Amino acid sequence: MGEAVRTTCAYCGVGCGISATPTGAREVTIRGDDAHPANGGRLCSKGTHLGETIGLTGRLLHPMIGERRVRWDKALDLVAKRFRDTIARHGPASVAFYVSGQLLTEDYYVANKLMKGFIGSANIDTNSRLCMSSAVAGHNRAFGEDVVPAGYEDLEKADLIVLIGSNTAWCHPIVYQRIQAARAERGTKLVVIDPRRTETCEGADLHLPLRPGSDVALMNGLLAWLAEQGMVHKPFMDSHVEVPEGFWKHLGTGHDLWTTARICDLDPALLRRFYELFAANPRTVTMFSQGINQSIRGTDQVNAIINVHLATGRIGQPGAAPFSITGQPNAMGGREVGGLASTLAAHMDFAPENVARVGRFWAAPAMATKPGLKAVDLFRAIGEGRIKALWVMATNPAVSLPDAATVRAALEKCPFVVVSDVIADTDTTAYADVRLPAAAWGEKDGTVTNSERTISRQRPFMDLPGEAKPDWWIIKEVARRMGWSGEFAYDTPADIWREHARLTAYQNDGARVLNLAAHAAIGNSAYEAMEPFRWGGTPFADGRFPTPSGRARMIKVGQMELQAPLADWPLTLNTGRYRDQWHTMTRTGLAPKLARHREEPLVEVHPKDAAALDLKDGDLARVSTPQGNSTFRVLLSEGQRSGEIFTPIHWTDQVSTGGRTGLLPRPLVDPHSGQPGFKSTPAALARV
Ligand code: SF4
Repeated sequence: MGEAVRTTCAYCGVGCGISATPTGAREVTIRGDDAHPANGGRLCSKGTHLGETIGLTGRLLHPMIGERRVRWDKALDLVAKRFRDTIARHGPASVAFYVSGQLLTEDYYVANKLMKGFIGSANIDTNSRLCMSSAVAGHNRAFGEDVVPAGYEDLEKADLIVLIGSNTAWCHPIVYQRIQAARAERGTKLVVIDPRRTETCEGADLHLPLRPGSDVALMNGLLAWLAEQGMVHKPFMDSHVEVPEGFWKHLGTGHDLWTTARICDLDPALLRRFYELFAANPRTVTMFSQGINQSIRGTDQVNAIINVHLATGRIGQPGAAPFSITGQPNAMGGREVGGLASTLAAHMDFAPENVARVGRFWAAPAMATKPGLKAVDLFRAIGEGRIKALWVMATNPAVSLPDAATVRAALEKCPFVVVSDVIADTDTTAYADVRLPAAAWGEKDGTVTNSERTISRQRPFMDLPGEAKPDWWIIKEVARRMGWSGEFAYDTPADIWREHARLTAYQNDGARVLNLAAHAAIGNSAYEAMEPFRWGGTPFADGRFPTPSGRARMIKVGQMELQAPLADWPLTLNTGRYRDQWHTMTRTGLAPKLARHREEPLVEVHPKDAAALDLKDGDLARVSTPQGNSTFRVLLSEGQRSGEIFTPIHWTDQVSTGGRTGLLPRPLVDPHSGQPGFKSTPAALARV
């Protein structure tokens, strides 16, 4: 038996610490890390069964050009040549990277530097675009920087926790356990706001099954009511918040309790009870996730939540904050190095002074000067022939992007597609000209940042199998072959970490909250031994925000008009996760015990809707949308609102002919964040 290695879970944004003890060749015992601040030794079912997923079944072990195994040199030379030639002929905007919240921060940093500083385009986007980019846009609008102003311990200090658009019990189980423990100890009140009655609602003090898409009306209504009750924190607002002209007047019209209840389709008494709970408990954490972010008004929904917290001074204080919880293990680390097409490194935007600053730091020959294409637009550009070379890293867009059939047609048409991945055959690798074998969890070495800004090490406890290599190594080898060896001369992830830390501090002068100056000269052994730590302390505790005025900004947001059901598409499709599966099941699908919770993809239907369609529990039914259709088994559920159905996101062509949720959502996105609205696609349902 080997020594226990402290690492971090491969799955969700809770970022639990894991103690992994190798017990043989690719065998390991997994325990929760008692010393990790996120989980204190606890693990959910997915984390517990990680040891069953580290075998080599289905692994990509060698570089491949088409179906031919080749040497690394040959594959890397080809990738560099095709990218170089494409840029020379068509310009830097004709190439793109599509990366992933599964990458470590060091991988993300090198990919971002290559594209934005050396190729000279910002066409690098990430699957985090589908996860929390509305939270990023909302934070930037309100705070001037993408800062999550909360930590998990705030859940233990709050008197009221509001979960909005989050099935926390299934999607962030350890956070949910912490909430339940706080409730048992302190009697913390819990309100769940979700169109569906999920497991998260069990035992909650209140569940508000609001009409999908009515979240802005709900939060504006709450703020209007609080203002009416004299609950606005005037001293905090006067000193620390900018209020746009006409804000209160706008809120004073059409946001009374009765109108709000009608728009949200809620019982007014229930709504009033929520308002009263909010008013009575200044220590409030409002935690939100994909139900807020994955909407065509996601950013406004985020700002409607933040507005309430700013107006009541519930920010920067123990147990009081708006709290975006992310989906992926390193969605936050990617944000910190500028992994989104719309951001630069170290939380900077594309303001000319930031472009110049990052360009100076990198000694960049070709800095991108404006944001690149966001995920949905990026694949649209591929389909239209504007992007001619694409490198996909550690993600499966042929399944996960909305309107997946169109995404596949774009990949088919793209003249040159590279995929670096752990898995040999995914729905996306089917379109790859070159496949590059990447390191997997348990082999990777670097850092990740969880939802509360805690940075933890992912440490290897197994050797790299076959010819697999870390993602950062693959990217720097391509950069070297494109002519930039000195600028990408990294030998270890610690080299990259130090450079990233120096960049966060470079000409920062306290202007940005993200500042890792203390790590700028960290030694290799200190990096190896790095304990989990959270950057930024308690953000905004002094009432100062990283905006030019030093004040936070209220954002005037209005409720969009909610459309009546369409004749041909009378239902609304909502999509999401199962408790024991992860993304497209390339990892969780390897653990048989995880399949027991839900063995197949189900469409959840309210009994009234099912009766009208002559459907019974267990029947097969086809879900259709204007984008496509797929077959699911029917699960009758009183937890569904009538008129709405729910399907899981996990099943792919690789494992199933039906249950293909990816084919169904429309490719409409939020105008500020570019995040797709996965939660409300017009749909129809019929017996097969
Ligand atoms: Fe892993 Fe998330 Fe479960 Fe923690 S809650 S063990 S990070 S999947």
